[in-house]
Amino acid sequence: MNDYYADLGVSRDASAEEIKKAYRKKARQLHPDVNPGAEAETEFKRVSQAYDVLSDAGKRAAYDRGQDPYAGATGGFGQGFTFSDIMDAFFGGTAAGARGPRSRVQRGHDALVRLDVPLSTAVFGSEETLTIDTAVLCTTCTGSGAQAGSGTRTCQICAGRGEVQQVQRSFLGQVMTSRPCQACRGYGDVIEHPCFDCSGEGRVRTRRDLTLKVPGGVDSGTRIQLAGEGEVGPFGGEPGDLYVEIAVEPHETFTRRGDDLHCTLEVPMTAAALGATLPVETLDGPTEIDVVPGTQPGETVTLGDHGVTHLRAQGRGDLVVHLDVKVPTRLTDSQRELLAQLAEERGEARPEGRMAAAGHGRGSKFWDVLRGR
Ligand SMILES: [Zn+2]
Ligand SMILES: [Zn+2]
Repeated sequence: MNDYYADLGVSRDASAEEIKKAYRKKARQLHPDVNPGAEAETEFKRVSQAYDVLSDAGKRAAYDRGQDPYAGATGGFGQGFTFSDIMDAFFGGTAAGARGPRSRVQRGHDALVRLDVPLSTAVFGSEETLTIDTAVLCTTCTGSGAQAGSGTRTCQICAGRGEVQQVQRSFLGQVMTSRPCQACRGYGDVIEHPCFDCSGEGRVRTRRDLTLKVPGGVDSGTRIQLAGEGEVGPFGGEPGDLYVEIAVEPHETFTRRGDDLHCTLEVPMTAAALGATLPVETLDGPTEIDVVPGTQPGETVTLGDHGVTHLRAQGRGDLVVHLDVKVPTRLTDSQRELLAQLAEERGEARPEGRMAAAGHGRGSKFWDVLRGR
């Protein structure tokens, strides 16, 4: 099988641009004026064949899979290799007669805007009003770009063809190439009296408000697509789409991990030891959690269905409350006495620390929660 990459001297992951460049360079070296002889001619055919295969995405993919479109052929250009491909590679234009005048009407570009939302929107969803600045149809000329009562006239430079032809000398002989006509920008006709409001573009920029339904479950980076709400194309061309990229603002209490919310609740040492029912403020409103007697620092209480709404499934994530047991720092004399009495009672008057077993230390439950247990 032919090694086309080696023929052009490019790597197997070369870009289309690199392939074109390599081909131009090789072809210039093998220019018959510079390098006459049968050997250079054969070589030229070889690199052209390589270029033919590698410059065509479909043929290249087939070749990479082991199918050589020239397998069994004995050099020369195969079918499908057109003269204009060579001209494209050399002159950046198109060979004569390839296309006529281009249409003014083109599809508009997609637009992207960013929308900052509070965490509650990510949790429950909401309706947001969005002010956007895009191109819309010019109502004065209804997209034609011409003043009322006027129209277009055929371009005199290119006689309506939209392109001008040029004869160029090359090592392949004289070749005719064509370029878009500069006078009419390739349209083939000229607007006689451009509309004042849109400067003859058929569209104007304007600011408008749009209502957007943000579903619960969105996260920073989520893009919502609004078909047809992007930029209107030139001369009334079909509008592009509008993409709204969500950015969720950080919340002072709740941190999001996946669809779960996490928060920290400070628990007095006595409540942790004795157990208690504590009020907590959630995004769904106030509720209570039970702190069991003997609760350790870092332990968690999970409130199911208090997290973020699943974007692509039923239900919601959890709210995980991390308990931060607070040891008192300022004690009155009587409090100190009470604690000393307690220590005495528990045989902890002369405490000895005890090494905890690895992996059972403080915080391990926290990580269990993050790993989804
Ligand atoms: Zn207009
Ligand atoms: Zn023209």
